[in-house]
This record gives sequence, C-alpha cells and structure tokens, in this order.
Amino acid sequence: MVTQQDTLYAELAALVGAAHVRPATPADAVEGRLPRYVVAPGSAQEVAQVLRVANQAGLRVAPRGGGSKLDWGQPPAALDLILATERLDAVLEHAWADMTATVQAGCRVATLQQVLAQHGQRLALDTLWPERATVGGILATNDSGALRMRFGALRDLILGVLVALPDGTLARSGGKVVKNVAGYDLQKLMTGALGTLGVIVEATFRLYPLPAAQRTFSLELSTPALAQRLLLAILDSTLVPSSLQLRLSTASAPVVDVRFEGIAAAIDSQADHLRRIAAELGASAPVEADEQVWLAREALWQAPEGAIVKISVLPADWATFVAALERVAQRLRLRWTLVAQALGLGMLQLSAPNDEALLAGLSLLRAAAGQRGGALVALRLPTALKARFDVWGPVGDTLALQRRIKQQFDPRATLNPGRFVGGI
Ligand SMILES: Cc1cc2nc3c(=O)[nH]c(=O)nc-3n(C[C@H](O)[C@H](O)[C@H](O)COP(=O)(O)OP(=O)(O)OC[C@H]3O[C@@H](n4cnc5c(N)ncnc54)[C@H](O)[C@@H]3O)c2cc1C
Repeated sequence: MVTQQDTLYAELAALVGAAHVRPATPADAVEGRLPRYVVAPGSAQEVAQVLRVANQAGLRVAPRGGGSKLDWGQPPAALDLILATERLDAVLEHAWADMTATVQAGCRVATLQQVLAQHGQRLALDTLWPERATVGGILATNDSGALRMRFGALRDLILGVLVALPDGTLARSGGKVVKNVAGYDLQKLMTGALGTLGVIVEATFRLYPLPAAQRTFSLELSTPALAQRLLLAILDSTLVPSSLQLRLSTASAPVVDVRFEGIAAAIDSQADHLRRIAAELGASAPVEADEQVWLAREALWQAPEGAIVKISVLPADWATFVAALERVAQRLRLRWTLVAQALGLGMLQLSAPNDEALLAGLSLLRAAAGQRGGALVALRLPTALKARFDVWGPVGDTLALQRRIKQQFDPRATLNPGRFVGGI
C-alpha cells in the first residue's frame, strides 16, 4: 500500500533527486519539533517547486542554512519539512569593478569573504559564527555586529534578492547596482522576516574595500556612567571608528573598545585624538588590544545555560539601563555579561538561580528598556520557558500590517509558522 508519506517522498525525490531527500533524524528537530523529511534542492527552480508541493499539501516548512540560529524566535507551531540550502552555496558573481557580489543563500559567510578578499573587498559585516552562518540565515535573522557602526546593517548592504514564494513563484527584486530605486524593496522586507515570507535563494550585496590597516584600542573605565560619557564623547567628536563596543559584567568593570581602519598615518592621528578625549574625561589611557575583543559577542554563547537577549536602547541610555540591570540582578541574584555594539544594540547573557528568577528578571529588564523606547528580544531561552515569555515582546501598532503582509505572501502559513511576532 502506498501511504501519503511515501507519495510525498516520491514527489520530492522526483523534484530534487533521491540523493537529496532523506527522513529527518533527531538532529534535525527544531526546538523539539521533529520534521518528516530533509530536502536539499539544487537550484532556485527546485526550491520553488518544493515549496509549491509543500504548500499544496498543507505541509509546514522551515528553511535551514547553517543551523546556527534555528532556536531564535518562538518554537514552530508545526514542522514537516526542513528545506536545506546546503547545495546552493556558490558565489555567482563578484563584480569587483562595481563593488557588488551575487551569492546563493546557502553560501557560508566566511566562504563569501574569502572569495571577495581575492580582489581586496569584503561584505562589511561581522556576523556571529561566519564559518557556519549562511547568507540566507544572516539575512533572515538580520544579524549584524560591531561594524554596523560604520557600514550599517544588512538592509543597508543588500541590493537585491531572489526569493521563492510558497506558491512556487520565483520573485526577483532590486538589482546588481548600488544606485537602484525602482520597485518595492522586497529585499529589505525579507531581511529580518525570519523566513516567514519566502525562502531567500540569492542575494546581491554592495561591497567595501578591505582596510589597508586596522587597530583596536581598549579603555577600562571605573563606572558605567564614565563609560557612557566616553562613548558619547567619541560619537560627538570627529573620530570615525569602524566599531565601538562596550563590555561589562557582574564580575568586571566596563571596557570600551574602539577600532579604526584606514591607512596607518590616519589611524595614528585618530589614536592620538582618542587619547586626548580620554584624558579630558579623566579616563584611563587607551591601550592597544587584540582583534579578539570583537569576538566578545560570540563568547556570550559559550555560557552553558540561562538566557541571551538582544537589548535595543538609545546610545545615550546604556548607563541608565545598566543601573536598572544591576538593581534587578542584585534582587534576583542574577549573573550577567553585556556586550553592546554599534552603540544602541547589545547582547546580554543572564544566568539565574532558577527559572522563576530568570523569567522575573527578563520581564523587569524588558520594562526597563521599554521605559525609554527600547526593547528586549530573547534570542536563547530554554524552549519550555518560551511558553511563559514572549521572546518578541510588544510590537506596537505594526502588527496588523505585518499580519496582512504574511497573509499576502504566505496565506496557508507554510513557512516557519508561529515563529515570528504575534504568532506570525
Ligand atoms: C530571535 C531573533 C534574533 C534576532 N537578533 C537580531 C540581532 O541580533 N541583530 C539584528 O540586527 N537583528 C536581529 N534579528 C532580526 C530583528 O529582530 C528583525 O529583523 C528586526 O526587524 C530588526 O530590526 P532592528 O534591529 O532595526 O530593530 P530591533 O531592535 O530588532 O526591533 C525592535 C522591536 O521590533 C520587534 N520586531 C522584530 N522584528 C520586527 C519586524 N520585522 N517588524 C517590526 N517589528 C519587529 C522586536 O520584537 C523588537 O521589539 C533577530 C531576529 C530574530 C528572530
């Protein structure tokens, strides 16, 4: 007897080849949800055809790149298929004279950077885990790092996208040139949509040159308030750092890291200027630091347990937020490490003596950030606790619009159902 499951397998195998469909194993589960199959299409057309079949059959699909951030967002409401982008890993075009590149979604960020470096160029973005993260994955989660300070985030770097929609359509938006204003910015809509609107198949980015030289300086400060004054003084000066980072924890005093890029003489001059700013504030002198300090955000994820949350506050509000954090931590006996990059965006690792203290701490910190227009989004949280804490928090008055967009792109809720804000 041919079961419905067998029929599905046969249909998928006919589309992508039997070697590229397999039954899922526990290692493929997403937050406890075990899919039925893992399918790895080999072309944009195959991605679209797999989606069309899934959509018609009422199956739920999770796109998967490197799998480095699959536990971000709410757990999927249901899951039948993992659509793996592992075979779509080519850099399709490096138009180095135009400073753009077009790349398939399954290409690892580190691989892309190696190809671009052959012509002295880069995607000016320092994402988490570039060896593992794929272009599609960083776009879907809108991941960015310290370089956002100078070069912007992904929506500033993406020029065009090719997306497979659940009905099997391939939609192209944007282009391969930097000056490009025609049509909808579908690429920006897809960036940060957590794979709930379409599967990103290809993307085109604007590029920047690799710097001739770069140097990093660190300054240890006696209090968060002094660190705040230093950050604002740097922002208010003529200095042009490519990255600016604040690190502090329950156990360690604040440190501000500053990175300058360019030609050696220009960096020397900026370093002198930084020394003068520090001296005027009565802060310790900057010391040259290793580039490893920029991996502080990744290091947060080595903590074996607890939560990791993204904090957005105004650049001028870090000291106020840290004061609230210290009060909450003392009351609930939390331990924490904060790495704030690009100034208004930070990642905070929190450990608590028990789940109740962790949840209470997260709620109090969300309220503290929210009081001044900021936000707290939980990135890592034990799956069981996600039922008791909305990882996204209040979305404001855009939710109705976001639901209409979802309805337009994915009316049958085929893609990553339930993972995004408001149950989208
Ligand atoms: C779990 C998770 C972690 C993420 N982590 C990062 C990250 O580290 N860095 C990063 O730059 N982006 C991240 N993103 C993507 C980011 O949340 C969304 O792409 C958001 O649209 C990015 O906007 P922002 O960074 O400018 O604002 P944010 O500060 O991320 O968002 C502000 C608020 O908007 C809500 N929100 C989230 N997505 C949307 C949306 N599409 N439209 C409207 N409101 C939204 C959030 O709940 C938050 O309260 C993450 C996404 C997920 C799924």
